[in-house]
Amino acid sequence: MTASTSGPPSSSLELPVRSLPGVGEDSEKLLEKLGIRTIGDLLWHLPRRHIDFSTFVPLRALTPDKEQTAQAIVGPIRERRTARGQPLTEVELLELDGTPTGVTATWFGRQFIGAKVRSGQQVRVSGKVAWFGRALQFRQPKIEAADAEAVHTGRLVPVYALTEGLKEGNLRRWLHTAVEGGPRRTAVVREIEDPLPPEIRERRALLALPEAMKEVHFPSSDAVLQEGKRRLAFDELLTLQLGLAQRRARWQRDARAPLLQAPDALVASWVAALPFTLTAAQQRSFSEVRGDLARTIPMSRLLEGDVGSGKTVVAALAARIAVTSGTQVALMAPTELLAEQHHRTISALFADGGPTVELLTSSVSSAARRAILERLASGMLDVVVGTHALVVEGVMFKRLGLAVIDEQHRFGVRQRTTLREKGSDPHLLLTTATPIPRTLTQTIYRDLDLSVIDELPVGRQEITTHVRTSDDLGKVWDGVRQAVGRGQQAFVVCPRIDPEEPSSGDAPPSAIAVERELRSGPLAGARLALMHGRMPAKERDDVMRRFAAAEIDVLVATTVVEVGIDVPNATVMVILGAERFGLAQLHQLRGRVGRGAERAYCVLVSDVEDSERLAAMTERKDGHPLDGFELARRDLEIRGAGQYLGDEQHGLSELRIVDLADVDPRLAMETADEADAILSRDPALERAEHARLAAAVEALWRRHGLA
Ligand code: ADP
Ligand code: MG
Repeated sequence: MTASTSGPPSSSLELPVRSLPGVGEDSEKLLEKLGIRTIGDLLWHLPRRHIDFSTFVPLRALTPDKEQTAQAIVGPIRERRTARGQPLTEVELLELDGTPTGVTATWFGRQFIGAKVRSGQQVRVSGKVAWFGRALQFRQPKIEAADAEAVHTGRLVPVYALTEGLKEGNLRRWLHTAVEGGPRRTAVVREIEDPLPPEIRERRALLALPEAMKEVHFPSSDAVLQEGKRRLAFDELLTLQLGLAQRRARWQRDARAPLLQAPDALVASWVAALPFTLTAAQQRSFSEVRGDLARTIPMSRLLEGDVGSGKTVVAALAARIAVTSGTQVALMAPTELLAEQHHRTISALFADGGPTVELLTSSVSSAARRAILERLASGMLDVVVGTHALVVEGVMFKRLGLAVIDEQHRFGVRQRTTLREKGSDPHLLLTTATPIPRTLTQTIYRDLDLSVIDELPVGRQEITTHVRTSDDLGKVWDGVRQAVGRGQQAFVVCPRIDPEEPSSGDAPPSAIAVERELRSGPLAGARLALMHGRMPAKERDDVMRRFAAAEIDVLVATTVVEVGIDVPNATVMVILGAERFGLAQLHQLRGRVGRGAERAYCVLVSDVEDSERLAAMTERKDGHPLDGFELARRDLEIRGAGQYLGDEQHGLSELRIVDLADVDPRLAMETADEADAILSRDPALERAEHARLAAAVEALWRRHGLA
């Protein structure tokens, strides 16, 4: 839509920015730094926000330290020097009836204000107001004659991302010209072609694109601004949906995954040999996975289940089917430690003469590694367990049938694509303990199918949860000491790593400071260790391994302990500054204890009164604590979807309008429906009326380097 193309421009949108009045060579270079070459690019440089200068404040009612706008009559204009000798232009501002007010407007340097406005003229002024002695001053404000068109004052004024040397006022004026036209030219914005078929626009009551673009830059009111944003967001989401759906369709059509099947009787014998009975939810999820494996369309399934709901065994059974069908399996975990744990679990499950399993981590010696790689390449080895990086990089399989990615909270579109494009088309199973909001499964995870394990195995012991304030810490540490005395272990989780500057009094607890304090005070004599995200992964794994081996009594850590390792001997989880964590996160952390036979405790320490969220952690429903799904739902209500997405990790950082962490669910649904409707009639977007949509989809993927 915005790409600069060679050949003669067919629309003014493709003209270089230089062709706008006022854009010179220097400006052109600065704009280029912002990725703006053509007038079309300029239009897509959307405002970051607007300042509301639409309501005039009477000069007498101005408040300091706020951006405001006022109408005034220009009084005397003076050029003087500051105490340091800098030139300063000062304009006295009078009430509209000419009454002096003492309010002035000042600019550093020679501003040639006299060339813009004259004494006695009515003007609009907007900017930050501050005290100067006993009078209020507009500092470096924007000033416009009352009869000039409102660009910088007296309206909702757009604020743009700038680059050093580029003046905001100039950029705003150029955009104003592009959007509103100028004395001798028509508005370029009118030449924007609307990619949406008219019937969709009507059905969804959307502004036309040129109008939306104009309103998003220079809104006529806040309500219409919102309409404009909705229209741009609609296009972007629709484009994304169309692109994802097309990709999925293409994979499903072109990719051929191996057919993985095992006879019912054989599968039943594996299930019967398990040390426990599968829950109904596990059975259901497993049969969904099994159904996918028995097709040549590669599976793309997300297995979602609360901490401890037993996702591993479902993945293991799927692995066994893959091996039985003569293919290999890669199981990837986020940490080496978790990989080791899976390796143990799966080896135990397969101990009955089943598949061969090896662990591939960076601790494996290079000779052993070479041997494993050889056996993988020749097909001698059935299952390899490792970290994501190790398994993906440079590992060749004879015939990879199934790839399992465990505890992947954030799935980038890019990651899925790379795996897919590794040549062979394995079935793909992703697992997560983080429930994904519907808006995301409808948007960026739309190419995944979903299985949910919404039930815990029976007989899980409940973790007693208390909410305490820091006044109670003495007792909390007593409790930890007693647990350690009984030979048990404890986690102490802090919201940050480093201690704050001494000046800030109520700073959140830091792992480093807390560990130091506990060591020399309340927990002196216990074996303490520290673990946080700035330690190298290797060192972290090492600490965790020693903790798992009970060589450490108390582990003081940040949320790096969140992702799932089993330490059955850990019975106490203390979370300091608990109000700083999301509910889903607190739940994950709490799930680190209570994995053994002993009673387990979780203590949430917070000095924030009346925390709705912390209360939810101790709330009961039908005689049970709230499960991870219910907690995640509450969290979503309270905090929004932002926590589910890292900035870059979803791989769609080049979206221009939509914030994936905060998608309007209705818009997500509307665009999903329209995308389905469009593709059902025109799967390849080949029809003339969809040509611009097809181009938009292509441009979106190109911007993400995924074309
Ligand atoms: P997660 O879903 O968090 O990955 P795991 O797969 O690690 O959970 O399972 C947690 C624990 O529960 C493991 O020790 C596993 O052996 C056990 N488990 C799994 N399924 C069942 C079941 N149906 N009944 C009893 N225990 C189970
Ligand atoms: Mg797990």
